[in-house]
Amino acid sequence: MNLSERQRQCLELLDIDVWVRRNLPPERQANPAPATLPAKVIDEPAWQALRAEVAACTRCALHRGRTQTVFSAGNPAAEWLLIGEAPGKEEDRQGEPFVGRAGKLLNSMLAAMGLRRDDVCIINILKCRPPDNRDPKPEEALTCEPYLKRQIALIRPKIILALGRIAAQNLLQVETPIGRMRGQVYEYPDPRTPVIVSYHPAYLLRKPSEKRRSWEDLKFAMRVFREQS
Ligand code: SF4
Repeated sequence: MNLSERQRQCLELLDIDVWVRRNLPPERQANPAPATLPAKVIDEPAWQALRAEVAACTRCALHRGRTQTVFSAGNPAAEWLLIGEAPGKEEDRQGEPFVGRAGKLLNSMLAAMGLRRDDVCIINILKCRPPDNRDPKPEEALTCEPYLKRQIALIRPKIILALGRIAAQNLLQVETPIGRMRGQVYEYPDPRTPVIVSYHPAYLLRKPSEKRRSWEDLKFAMRVFREQS
């Protein structure tokens, strides 16, 4: 692929060396082509009604400690859906998932894929922040799950990228360690959608040596995405 300067810079931020042999035809170059941009529409009234319903939700105890609910970021009509676990302190403050340092790293990962934040939709398993950024409890994830299912049904993505153990295990209803989920194509049942699992950007900030594996996952996801077309 002919990498843009922006993609090259983002790959360097991810600690990925970029080696492209000169005069090699594009189809024989190692890195995949950028993912395509969204082309579908979403039921906007239903999306906004769901957003309002979530904003007023008091179904679990997490509503007591939140500043606001965190519903989504990016484009709900996108073909790529990224799912994380729950809002952290900054997300709770700003009302948007994946902000702060982890959000910046996610933006770099997307740019390396040839995507902008507005080319994907980003949501979390939980819409309210757990105190002290603890892991979501199973009963909280279960209580919030109907919102997640309705979001996915409205977005109808072509591919789902589950970021981190909590997101992957809750979405797929498995207890498999994340290391064993990487490199596999799972299927979300309704609507049937391929799911690829990779690390959460916050984990990559704590363990930068895993960025290379994360990039392998993203390239794998791009290949699976292209096969859907
Ligand atoms: S986490 Fe989900 S179920 Fe719990 S209060 Fe927030 S929106 Fe409602």
